[in-house]
Amino acid sequence: MKPSTLVTHPPHVTVPDDNRALVAPIYQSVKFTFDSVDETERLSHGEREGFWYSRKSNPTLRQLELTLAGLQGREACLLTASGAAAVNLSMLALCKQGDHVICFAEMYQPTRNMILRVLERYGVRHTLLSIDDVDGIERTLAGTPTRLVVFESPSNPVLKVADVSRITAIAKKHGALTLLDNTLAGIHNHGQFDVDVFVHSLTKYISGHGDVLGGAVIANREIIDALRADMAIFGASLDPHAAFLIQRGLKTYFLRYERQCQNAMALAEYLVSRPEVLELRYPGLKSHAQHELTLAQQHDFGSMITFDLQGGPEAARRFAEALSLFSISASLGSTESLVLPPQLLQPRDFDPQQIAWSAITDSTVRLSVGIEDSQDLVMDIEQALAASAACRIKGQ
Ligand SMILES: *Cc1c(COP(=O)(O)O)cnc(C)c1O
Repeated sequence: MKPSTLVTHPPHVTVPDDNRALVAPIYQSVKFTFDSVDETERLSHGEREGFWYSRKSNPTLRQLELTLAGLQGREACLLTASGAAAVNLSMLALCKQGDHVICFAEMYQPTRNMILRVLERYGVRHTLLSIDDVDGIERTLAGTPTRLVVFESPSNPVLKVADVSRITAIAKKHGALTLLDNTLAGIHNHGQFDVDVFVHSLTKYISGHGDVLGGAVIANREIIDALRADMAIFGASLDPHAAFLIQRGLKTYFLRYERQCQNAMALAEYLVSRPEVLELRYPGLKSHAQHELTLAQQHDFGSMITFDLQGGPEAARRFAEALSLFSISASLGSTESLVLPPQLLQPRDFDPQQIAWSAITDSTVRLSVGIEDSQDLVMDIEQALAASAACRIKGQ
């Protein structure tokens, strides 16, 4: 072999059958091969196991798919390049022209935009409701044949908790599928409910370290097999290296999640005692409107907290800027704490009715609580509240 051939066909290293890597290596290969055309054909006809092209599947992706399906308590999973791709491609694959979708004002904004702007353009109609209005969901289902009910629980950012068993029961009764974006609750929650399709942003709690994007769709095998055919065409596949990082992040998922919940509870209890904090929403507090419902349907309460600051938008801006352990940033569920002030939370495309449903005001602040020491976080909040109050007094 001449050098130019050797670099194109490097020596093959095989690992003996009785000897294996403890951590699965990354299959950083786009292509897979058999020695015979017959075996390649058998794979393409689904008559044998194996891999062909990483856009469709890859051993590194398969390991993560199996882990995630197991955690959510379903048969099958497929991975996408981001959470948004998981949400949007599953809606595209499940709907056709003329179908009707029910969605909610309290949803993650890109999901709402996909339904209102993109699906609408392809002839998929929708009804937008408040997630609090379960009777409205039932009336809509009774009046309009519906393909899909797309919802979240808790909702982002104001943490309204959906009545998952009622919503899935009425959807089933009227022949609609349910698609639950389970990102905020986490993959260990809601598996006991009759949800048809779960979607997750793996970018959040699941990878946990804010260094990788990914998404997952999780359902029974029949639905995933049907979606997989379309997904391979859409092409928003997860990269094997990203899958490896997500699999690694998952090892500490429960440790992180538990610590984040403890920290969030400590902060919520502190914040609720402060006079300048209004409308505090944390599902773990008895004062949360759906505390009992959350207790009944989730194992824990998550790491997101929202509240309004009495001083209004400028006090909220100053508060966010004065924090030193919380960064002003998008995303959530990572090891580090984050804050979003009202200037970065308020939807710009809502009518007054939808603004009321969304419950986001011009002084709403959202916190995503990390794994830092809870005392350090409380002290940081305390000094930022003082800084925000000082600015208000000086300004008056
Ligand atoms: C972040 C998020 C998404 C989108 O996930 P990306 O990985 O950022 O594309 C979808 N739904 C919810 C509820 C989210 O919080």
